[in-house]
Amino acid sequence: MPPDERSIIHVDMDAFYASVEQLDQPDLRGVPVIVAGLGPRGVVSTCSYEARRFGVRSAMPTAQARRLCPDGVYLWPRMARYEEVSAQVFEVFHEVTPLVEGLSLDEAFLDVSASLRLLGSIEVIGRRVKNAIFERTRLVASVGMGPNKLLAKLASEISKPNGFHRIVPERAAAELAPLPVGRLWTVGKVTEQALHRLGIRTIGELAACDTARLASALGRQVGVIQALARGEDERCVEPEQAEQSIGAEHTFDVDLVEYELAESWLLRHGERIAARARQRGLKGSTVTVKLREPPFVTHTRQAQLGVPSASVSEIYEVARGLLRTWWQAQPRPRLRLLGVSLSGFAERHQQELFESAQAEGITDQLQDRINSRFGSGSLVRAGVLRTRSQD
Ligand SMILES: [Mg+2]
Repeated sequence: MPPDERSIIHVDMDAFYASVEQLDQPDLRGVPVIVAGLGPRGVVSTCSYEARRFGVRSAMPTAQARRLCPDGVYLWPRMARYEEVSAQVFEVFHEVTPLVEGLSLDEAFLDVSASLRLLGSIEVIGRRVKNAIFERTRLVASVGMGPNKLLAKLASEISKPNGFHRIVPERAAAELAPLPVGRLWTVGKVTEQALHRLGIRTIGELAACDTARLASALGRQVGVIQALARGEDERCVEPEQAEQSIGAEHTFDVDLVEYELAESWLLRHGERIAARARQRGLKGSTVTVKLREPPFVTHTRQAQLGVPSASVSEIYEVARGLLRTWWQAQPRPRLRLLGVSLSGFAERHQQELFESAQAEGITDQLQDRINSRFGSGSLVRAGVLRTRSQD
């Protein structure tokens, strides 16, 4: 899958801390609520949309907010409570993909490319996430969808609050063009000012500008920034590595150009991954292949295993399929780095109990019957009891 045809969802809760306060204290609904440091040097953490109407913004000194909105309700943050709600929200994310990159308590990227076949279109998945968050927390999330991180995030930002918007590749340039250059990822204050001096105010003007003319203001970054202005972004969604994936990769001293050799590396990586997964009692459902072309262009390709597995041959077969498809699409395939990883792990204890139940000869049919009668946790509970009786 080319990097710009991935399915990325960006979810961002609306006015998160303030909304939690309004949820917990119904008197505060419809009232300007400002969650902030209340000391003399405090700054605003989050404010409700009612407060934004007075010009209050995040990161503004609380003293200034009080001048703009003297009748607002000012509250200290209650982080433990926000974390509790955040855990519910992230649980929803993990129900649609293992590839979740949390940016803060209330914001994350989800790569759902490998979930489409199972769960439906990106809009169906986006709607499911938005609805599930509301059902479980009574809070509103804005959901942006696109072929990459840049466009998914912009889609949620421009549709906020209560946003739901998808930017398709064909529309990317048109949707980006009128936005101010400062909205573009990587364009900070300094770069923004430099661009303004060149008379460039919108992302469209940045995309259309002559590269040589831009180089004076942007230096070596010019290529990357202009690509972003066209809506191109190859950054991957990066879940927390430690717990969520087991990987192996190798950087070649001399670029690898022989397909058979690449396959051998995949097998070697597969063996290492499977051994480490087995050691930790894990089975994964997602195989990701990482391919870096010289010097630094990195692609990832991903597919799901039918059943969670820690088997070398199953990991290898899926990884080889991904490699072959990528390789055949390249005019001159060349690799600087090749990696494989396994993710989407089932909970370890659940898996062990499930396996011991299977070992006892409980047939699939019986499992289905137990679960349809008593709910899907019943088999696990039965397993726990059995383990205890053996102690
Ligand atoms: Mg937010």
